[in-house]
Amino acid sequence: MLEKRNFYINGKWVEPKFSNDIEVINPATEKSCAIISQGGKEDIHDAVIAAKLAFKNWGYTTKHKRLALLEEFYVLYKKRWNDITEAIIQEMGAPKDFASKLQTGTGASHIKSFIRYLKEFEFEKPLGDHAKNQRILYEPKGVCALITPWNWPMNQVCLKVIPALASGCTMVLKPSELAPLSSIILAELIDEAKFPKGVFNLVNGDGATTGDALTSHPDVDMISFTGSTRAGALISQNAAKDFKRVSLELGGKGANIIFKDADSEAIERGAFRCFRNSGQSCNAPTRMLVEKSIYDEAIEKLRKYANEFKVGDPNKEGDHIGPVISETQFNKIQTLIQKGIDEGAKLVAGGPGKPEGLENGYYVKPTVFADVNNTMEIARTEIFGPVLSVIPFDNENEAIEIANDTNYGLTNYIQTQDTEKVQRVARKLRSGMVDVNGAGIAVDAPFGGFKHSGIGREAGKEGLLEFLEVKSVGGWN
Ligand code: NAD
Repeated sequence: MLEKRNFYINGKWVEPKFSNDIEVINPATEKSCAIISQGGKEDIHDAVIAAKLAFKNWGYTTKHKRLALLEEFYVLYKKRWNDITEAIIQEMGAPKDFASKLQTGTGASHIKSFIRYLKEFEFEKPLGDHAKNQRILYEPKGVCALITPWNWPMNQVCLKVIPALASGCTMVLKPSELAPLSSIILAELIDEAKFPKGVFNLVNGDGATTGDALTSHPDVDMISFTGSTRAGALISQNAAKDFKRVSLELGGKGANIIFKDADSEAIERGAFRCFRNSGQSCNAPTRMLVEKSIYDEAIEKLRKYANEFKVGDPNKEGDHIGPVISETQFNKIQTLIQKGIDEGAKLVAGGPGKPEGLENGYYVKPTVFADVNNTMEIARTEIFGPVLSVIPFDNENEAIEIANDTNYGLTNYIQTQDTEKVQRVARKLRSGMVDVNGAGIAVDAPFGGFKHSGIGREAGKEGLLEFLEVKSVGGWN
């Protein structure tokens, strides 16, 4: 059993003020794989004060010093690639190949990309040729509370920690209590790279206790949160009291609009993107909108694809999906599948219960519902499991209307060969991202949502700007 009870505060691994163990459950075995601690107000206070003191120097370091440390960190991250991957397999059940290439891999891509943006970024520049003595300065926001979920653990942690470090902020990271092991390795790498003490701190624990203590601490200047819309609203209330800056990356219920002239792989590609990571991606296209003239054919393709889709042990190589994160999440998905049946959607593949031969572990059958109406709960709630809802449509306007008829607005998808239609529809979709014909969204493109999907953007230049305040100085020279 891995014992990781200590927190990383002010450059040291320290014991929690009061011992309060949390078991980390491996979702493939339903057994405990590690013990961490639940941080209390006192631990959070120590971490925030360490970050506050460290900011006095770190906030004024040169870009070159921060770059050198980040480059060293990137080298170390690549050396621990297999350890990070193994941690992700254990903590959240991502299968080996996927965990390595995509989970650990995306973290690495963000580190590399932020290093590039930091190199290019001008922290001080003139307003313009018309106003030469007006200077614009970009300055770090200060002490940041970084709170992350379990579904893409290293991706989300790197999307926050790296731009925070790059911009000159100091921070306290509270990773998900369900998947904290990869973040503990990241803290070890920060230590090994020799970032000054107090710049980065890690306190483990749940949302209600540790997360709440962190987001309500008066010395926190900014909160960057990724997780559920429910928690995002609670955190915003804490932030409002003393005007903490807030960046929120929340849930999604993406529509994938399949027009009749979509390419021959569009249907299967859409199902794959829904089922990938066991359906646990905020940007998953979970509502497939299909033009009526190809609807029956699409349903048959989906039936075959979902029935053949492989689910299995995350420790094995291959392109299968693993379990979902927890018993709670498994039960929630089962309830929603039953709700879909009760509301009259047509079950085409999958359904309640575990896949055959996978009774141990939180495995879910890849499930497809046809004839879904956008008012049904399976079309409105973020299920966060491998469950696809298929909705027919008559024409372009109706498709846009259905796609936008949701509280969320993270990623929508379009499949058509008609470029003019692509651009017309992309402009009308109310979401932070639109992915066309499987092109994907670049790793450094702004990532974030409209409406209840969040506030602010992560990744690339916008992701760096999120951690910077803007100062105007008149009469610079
Ligand atoms: P969650 O909101 O339950 O937990 C996320 C994190 O917030 C955890 O670290 C948790 O401990 C903490 N937390 C929970 N309540 C809190 C509170 N009151 N105060 C402070 N911290 C609190 O979400 P989850 O179940 O871990 O993650 C799944 C959710 O994350 C989904 O809704 C998904 O769509 C969303 N998500 C969004 C993005 C995005 O970029 N938009 C990316 C990944 C996941």
